[in-house]
Amino acid sequence: MTAKGIGVVGAGISGLTLALRLQQLGVDVTLYAESSADEMRQGRLPNTVARMRATRDRERALGSEHFALAGSLSDTAKISIKGEPPLEFTGTVNDPFHAVDFRLLIPALLDDFTDRGGRLTLVAASPGAAEVEKWSAGHEMIVVAAGRRSVTELFPRDEARSPYDRPQRSLLAGLYTGITPAGFSYNVSPGCGEIFQMPMWTRDGLASGMLIEAIPGGPLEPVTRLSYLDDPRAFTRTLEQVLAEHAPRIAERIEHGSFGPLGPDDLLQGAITPVVREPVARLSTGRVALAVGDAWITNDPVTGQGANLGSHCAWVAAEAIAGGGPYDEDFLRSVTAEMWKVAGAVTEWSNAFLQPPAEHVFALFARAAVDEGMANLFVNLFSDPVAAWAVFSDPARVDALLAAGPEPSLPVAS
Ligand SMILES: Cc1cc2nc3c(=O)[nH]c(=O)nc-3n(C[C@H](O)[C@H](O)[C@H](O)COP(=O)(O)OP(=O)(O)OC[C@H]3O[C@@H](n4cnc5c(N)ncnc54)[C@H](O)[C@@H]3O)c2cc1C
Repeated sequence: MTAKGIGVVGAGISGLTLALRLQQLGVDVTLYAESSADEMRQGRLPNTVARMRATRDRERALGSEHFALAGSLSDTAKISIKGEPPLEFTGTVNDPFHAVDFRLLIPALLDDFTDRGGRLTLVAASPGAAEVEKWSAGHEMIVVAAGRRSVTELFPRDEARSPYDRPQRSLLAGLYTGITPAGFSYNVSPGCGEIFQMPMWTRDGLASGMLIEAIPGGPLEPVTRLSYLDDPRAFTRTLEQVLAEHAPRIAERIEHGSFGPLGPDDLLQGAITPVVREPVARLSTGRVALAVGDAWITNDPVTGQGANLGSHCAWVAAEAIAGGGPYDEDFLRSVTAEMWKVAGAVTEWSNAFLQPPAEHVFALFARAAVDEGMANLFVNLFSDPVAAWAVFSDPARVDALLAAGPEPSLPVAS
């Protein structure tokens, strides 16, 4: 078989951003996907993603901006930390966070790829390492973007970069009616977990996306395991009680009587073990494979960065690939070093936020509660993970920000 272009395995945000960018740059690309666009529009809710500035900019550059509809963009973020009294602030987001059900966004991106003449190969559900090895023979290089349940045997866990060996949160993600929209809402219940809520464009129009991140063994965990199908009313009632107790700012916006999940398929329960994998594999065909997105790094969604990072890494990989080969191990090592500049910040930040906040981070919260400039800076850090981690990882930087007075500015240009 003659090698032909680049093979991309997996049609999530990482694989599609990569395939669309390679296509745009004139690189021959074949996309291997488990599902057609129509199949992707069915099925269970996969996540509740907020996409930030850089990701949206990349999609615009691809001519693939979708569902940026009024109401689904959050230009404010309210942070609320439960306590007596609660610590609260609202910041203005310079470039709105955008939330759309990935069962709409991802097939729209796939349609863009095929409508523009992209080569799509539909494969049997969840093919493994043997298939990736086989497909690699037909390409100069293969990129695996098949998500966290991916062909993990090709990409072993990187112990040095993976501090956790089990999930740090139990998750309940869902789409709901009956919550009055009020921008992005991030609620911390110390010792119990976090609850995120935002307006989101769904298959039923505008609704609310909400994610409960429960610390295992804590009082929030039972609701993340509660069955909706067994007793939908009890599920909704329990959820309302949980919100009243742990996220009163969401609870006060609930319209009683109309609040509830859109449907049984609009709920997702589970847990994620954060992991960084070896991103480069040598295959028996003599080719090399690169892992991007969740196939490389799966973080807990506590900082809302995974999809944004997958999009970033895909873009970095596409630029490098379009620059030309040889696509060997050295090439891939230099690509992954470039990707790690952002991926490292995201990973360390996400892992740190699974622990109780450090004293200097708490000091930042406290200042933001009384200083609008700091509140704005804080919420915009979610669009800039490198700046975010530069701040959150460094008490001296926080001290400098606190000393800077009103209108502090980000310490890192990115
Ligand atoms: C509840 C929740 C909330 C989240 N919130 C946010 C957020 O606010 N912001 C954010 O940025 N991120 C968030 N994330 C993370 C985000 O969803 C993921 O990081 C992102 O979707 C990963 O994209 P991906 O393309 O790498 O992988 P995936 O989305 O998993 O896509 C991989 C694709 O590959 C396919 N596939 C798998 N195996 C194969 C195979 N062998 N051959 C062919 N195809 C295959 C799969 O079917 C899938 O379509 C959240 C995640 C969860 C669970």
